[in-house]
Amino acid sequence: MRKHNFNSGPSVLPKEVLEQASEAIINFNGINLSLLEIGHRTNWFVDVIEESKLLVKELMQLNNNYEVLFLHGGATTQFMQVPLNLLNENETAAYCDNGIWGSKAISEAKIFGKVNVIASSKDQNYNYIPKSFTLPDNTKYLHLTSNNTVEGTQWHQFPETTIPIVADMSSDIFSRQLNFNQFQLIYAGAQKNMGAAGVSLVVIDKNILGKVSRQISPILDYRKHIEAASLLNTPPVFAIYVALLTLRWIKKEGGLAEMENRANKKSSLLYNTIDSLPLFECAIKKEDRSKMNAVFCIKEEVLQNKFLEECKEEGMIGVKGYRTVGGLRVSMYNALSLESVEAITMLMKNFANKYS
Ligand SMILES: *Cc1c(COP(=O)(O)O)cnc(C)c1O
Repeated sequence: MRKHNFNSGPSVLPKEVLEQASEAIINFNGINLSLLEIGHRTNWFVDVIEESKLLVKELMQLNNNYEVLFLHGGATTQFMQVPLNLLNENETAAYCDNGIWGSKAISEAKIFGKVNVIASSKDQNYNYIPKSFTLPDNTKYLHLTSNNTVEGTQWHQFPETTIPIVADMSSDIFSRQLNFNQFQLIYAGAQKNMGAAGVSLVVIDKNILGKVSRQISPILDYRKHIEAASLLNTPPVFAIYVALLTLRWIKKEGGLAEMENRANKKSSLLYNTIDSLPLFECAIKKEDRSKMNAVFCIKEEVLQNKFLEECKEEGMIGVKGYRTVGGLRVSMYNALSLESVEAITMLMKNFANKYS
């Protein structure tokens, strides 16, 4: 039996995606060659990239201003690539400091221009999303992290502004319906909700490009990647293929509406269980809780370790909180089944009965 995989990333993928991916490593599309053995400029692979782009555009319902890129370097590279391409040295970008990933993005942006941290929830251990802030008119762009993977908060409503919004959606991409055209740049590492590690999705409104005066190395220049249709150099072919398989799976299952529906069911079951059992505690403000990563704890450390042991015995992995945060974290990405959440909530109830 497969394990109940609550890993935060790399994380659970649909079983059929794994089967199709392993088949492609041996014999891709019946051509008697491995996906890993063919050139990235062959029609075989160009078809993979083109179908992936179309599926991204279709699932997100993007208008024609948007370009879809598949790049190397993880979401972390985007912390640097965004300001490099969008922010002049004497200009100011606004950043929301809502967690560890956002604060890393802030440090990187400071290398390239001025950063105005307009909202921070650091004072409360990042347990909420700040909602009231003012954006000065001369702000070049606003950067936020739509889902805080480590801290367990999520933006459920986005600021209304004419200033371009850049969003790191690494841990909740394709998990819900949104008006994606309200963002001018969206990026996401694939390994949480859309495939294997090694590729990042970048979606850009092309009208925001070409406005900085510095020289940009071509390999970091979004415009060069757009011109080359994500084939500027050898792309991470396997990771892109796994993303394509995952995108096909999302569409087949019912698209973002169905992913959202499932996320609602799974997360409400989990949070209701936490809230009903005094042994467990979730410090995240209710309205800001993440539907992807539930962060909670058992106050007594000895019991918490005992709980983690029981999870292990029951074939549940990835329940331990982030190394700097501690506590417990249950990640509920698209490919995690409701059965897995039912299994852990059952364990929680039995555990609370035994030890309360
Ligand atoms: C995991 C994560 C990152 C870092 O991703 P890498 O691909 O490891 O660089 C950045 N932002 C968020 C929100 C994440 O969850």
